[in-house]
Amino acid sequence: MEPKQEEFDAIVIGSGPGGATVSRELSQYGKKVLLLEWGAYKPVTGNPKNLILDCFMLGKSMFVTKNLLAMVRGITTGGSSLYYCALAVDPPVEMLKKHGVDITKEVEEIKSAVPCSPLRDDLMSQAGKVFMESALDLGYDCKKMNKYIYQDKCRAECDLCLLGCPHEAKWTARDFVDEALENGAKMVNGAKVSRVIVEGGKAVGVEYKHEKQTRKAYASKVVLAAGGIGSPMILRESGIDGVGYDFFFDPLWFMWGKIDRVTSGKGIPMTAGILLQDEGVVLTDHNMPHMTKAIFDVQGLKPHKAFSYSNMVPIQAKVRDGLSGRIGKRGWVWKGLEQRDWQKLNAGYEHAKKILENAGATGIYRSPLMAAHPGGTVKIGEFLDSDLKTEYDNLYVCDASVIPDEMGLPPSMAILCMGKRLSKHLLGQEKAAPAKVAATVSTPS
Ligand SMILES: Cc1cc2nc3c(=O)[nH]c(=O)nc-3n(C[C@H](O)[C@H](O)[C@H](O)COP(=O)(O)OP(=O)(O)OC[C@H]3O[C@@H](n4cnc5c(N)ncnc54)[C@H](O)[C@@H]3O)c2cc1C
Repeated sequence: MEPKQEEFDAIVIGSGPGGATVSRELSQYGKKVLLLEWGAYKPVTGNPKNLILDCFMLGKSMFVTKNLLAMVRGITTGGSSLYYCALAVDPPVEMLKKHGVDITKEVEEIKSAVPCSPLRDDLMSQAGKVFMESALDLGYDCKKMNKYIYQDKCRAECDLCLLGCPHEAKWTARDFVDEALENGAKMVNGAKVSRVIVEGGKAVGVEYKHEKQTRKAYASKVVLAAGGIGSPMILRESGIDGVGYDFFFDPLWFMWGKIDRVTSGKGIPMTAGILLQDEGVVLTDHNMPHMTKAIFDVQGLKPHKAFSYSNMVPIQAKVRDGLSGRIGKRGWVWKGLEQRDWQKLNAGYEHAKKILENAGATGIYRSPLMAAHPGGTVKIGEFLDSDLKTEYDNLYVCDASVIPDEMGLPPSMAILCMGKRLSKHLLGQEKAAPAKVAATVSTPS
């Protein structure tokens, strides 16, 4: 056997909501954590170039399905959360309980660790207010939703949420990464993990590419948090077959209508929403930067619409798709939409159209399809036990891939809570093996 390199208590792969939470929690209790992140740690400036480089690289962060649906993810420190809409939806506690995962306590703990409340009226966009007023007028149960936003730093009519908030108003998983680094965790950026090293049925380390070199690192625990696409790819290379099938990705489209009394297209997205649980449809207001809207208009073969922005009111309709498809060998997303998915998308379109028309909108049209929540590729109950452990000892998964059933809702809060729960489990285990616990370390009750 080759000489072993530096040993860690835990190696965490990926710094999105799952990996960032585990890194923060373990390092807080004195554990020696190595965080391996494929993406870079660039300053968050709100420059569209960063969004394009981190989320729109074909075959790396963007994949296109046969329905011409664009699936995006963030390859950067903080993962997709760096560019998310900061909508904090309560996790599916009962669904997870059915699979033996109780996160009731963790929901409260995470909510007290991150900002999580509805946006103040003065921070809501004109379009958001129009959406909410019109929906309520039609009898929809439309409510303001919780946002991961520090409202004292947030600015009205700002369109930078989706480009990476430069005002430090939007909470992202990078905030937890920063805490982990302050606690002494070590992060290597540009480290693309290829496989987990397994000896005698136990994970002992990982192999990764960094600066064109293949490197290895060793630890007594390995936590895979490379996201809904990344984690199944690494598991397959590590000898766990069958992962990466029958997943969800929450397809969506945007609808716009022109309303003359609206004078600004800028604003914070997803501030109010209508949850049509039985139909599997969620509707929200969805302001975005002019550039992003223009890209959708060109993609949707409506380039003439690309110049309209200030009086355009956007609504997003996102649906709960059925479990299907497979992640290809190189991470390509192979998933067609089934009839039931189309029915939901069309129902979403009809609801949005009704709301826009009721508000006086004209020239209503929709964008091409996209998706941004791939999950369920390494399901609890199928490939993981209720402690998120794989068939290998010491190897755990904690990200969107573990979600066992389709949610149809933004999953980041669920992932943060599972990260907190897994960390407690790992720390509890360490308690039973005192030799590995640092002298000053205490464990949560
Ligand atoms: C545009 C957009 C808007 C969204 N809006 C919302 C929202 O408002 N609310 C919400 O709850 N959710 C939202 N989401 C979804 C949410 O961001 C994701 O569900 C969440 O980030 C998933 O967390 P994760 O830990 O599973 O993985 P990710 O966030 O995908 O993080 C995985 C990390 O692993 C790294 N990685 C991947 N492969 C490797 C490898 N081989 N080696 C090393 N590192 C690797 C990646 O670079 C990344 O940093 C949005 C997503 C997008 C793209």
